[in-house]
Amino acid sequence: MTQQLFARHPQTTADLGRLIRGQVHRPGDDAYDTLRASLNPAFDAHPVVVAEVTSAADVQAAVVWAREHDLPLAVQATGHGTYVPSDGGLLIRTARLDGVFVDPDRRIARVGAGAVWGDVLAAAAPFGLAPVSGSSPTVGVAGFSMGGGLGPLSRKYGLGADNVLRVDLVTADGELVTATPDRNADLFWAVRGGGGNFGVVTSLEIRLHPVDEVYAGQALFSIARAADLLARYRDYAPVMPRELSCTIALVGEHVAIRATYAGDASSAQHALRPLWNVAGTPVQSTFAEVSVAQASVPGTAPRNFELFTEVPDSLLESILATQANSVEFRYWGGAITEGTSPAGYRDVPFSIAVDGPAEHLWPYATGGSFLNFLHDADAVETAYTAADYQRLREVKAGWDPANVFHRNLNIKPS
Ligand SMILES: Cc1cc2nc3c(=O)[nH]c(=O)nc-3n(C[C@H](O)[C@H](O)[C@H](O)COP(=O)(O)OP(=O)(O)OC[C@H]3O[C@@H](n4cnc5c(N)ncnc54)[C@H](O)[C@@H]3O)c2cc1C
Repeated sequence: MTQQLFARHPQTTADLGRLIRGQVHRPGDDAYDTLRASLNPAFDAHPVVVAEVTSAADVQAAVVWAREHDLPLAVQATGHGTYVPSDGGLLIRTARLDGVFVDPDRRIARVGAGAVWGDVLAAAAPFGLAPVSGSSPTVGVAGFSMGGGLGPLSRKYGLGADNVLRVDLVTADGELVTATPDRNADLFWAVRGGGGNFGVVTSLEIRLHPVDEVYAGQALFSIARAADLLARYRDYAPVMPRELSCTIALVGEHVAIRATYAGDASSAQHALRPLWNVAGTPVQSTFAEVSVAQASVPGTAPRNFELFTEVPDSLLESILATQANSVEFRYWGGAITEGTSPAGYRDVPFSIAVDGPAEHLWPYATGGSFLNFLHDADAVETAYTAADYQRLREVKAGWDPANVFHRNLNIKPS
């Protein structure tokens, strides 16, 4: 009803334009179609209005305005992780909140909610520092970190969520609050893994690490080596150094070693040798010593993503029998197991991402998932341990009892 009213009275949305400094875009406006788009081709969302916020005050005004008009609201930085469309509501676009400030002495970056990893990598590199970022420089820092955040430095320095030191966030009441380990500690715990369920993040402070160059790349070997290499990796991965983040992938006619080593080439080659010895001579390799920002290691799109406590030989045979564009076998472990935020299953060591069907892996899988690799808005509970999920619902009930922030991978208040 309210949404029909907005369609008939576009001047009502013009009110929002007077309340915020950023621009407001309605259907028919030049930028509307560009700004409402997500990267997910399944959605062609039509929000009533898009607000390009430029400050925390803009976010506060937009949240309050949406509530006063009983409009659902959604938040988007890049559209990389949008799985719930913003039809008929207010879409808050944070892309213009893209400031990045690096403090090399404290080894932290203060980052606006619209910043992407490429911005942070570029700002940190001159100081010989790097964040725990993901595989793509175009992914948003806030969305990545709030959804857990697995990156090539995670085995050494933890998940993205573990590297968040402070969050500024606009609550469902339009209040701007700060969450740190000492201030609003329940909120601080929940946003580091619980996604966009607790408010609109306006800025974050994240930890940087003294990583300048890495040895990274992909080497392709004959598929005939796949069975032995998968078995060797399963046995070696639990004792490989934390500097090494490594997966084994089946890609068409080849089996691939994909890796990033936080250190120099000779240490990396030493760490990779147990795998390389089994794999033989590569038919192609992109491994090189590069800056963190330049490192480009291919990944497998997680159309299906499963977790495994154990990997018996029969599961390795199922991996080999997978009919997919690509299948990627990963050991997590390292510093990931030491984090305390509600991101994923810290003590479940193995995952398999499949760019294709994965039903044949289900008999071995735990049924768990990882929020950043979850595409099904009805399966959010699977991204958490039972205890974490229950606590997330309680924190949600405290900060957003009416579930104002529900156009996302939603956690309902308890
Ligand atoms: C090419 C590609 C590579 C990827 N690589 C990795 C990887 O290596 N590791 C990994 O862990 N993940 C990875 N992901 C997943 C990615 O981290 C998630 O999809 C993440 O949610 C994207 O965040 P975004 O802000 O870019 O996307 P958006 O679609 O803009 O946002 C996704 C969701 O985050 C929430 N959100 C974003 N900003 C805010 C805010 N300011 N306040 C409140 N909520 C907010 C909203 O709920 C929103 O729906 C990858 C995704 C893609 C497409």
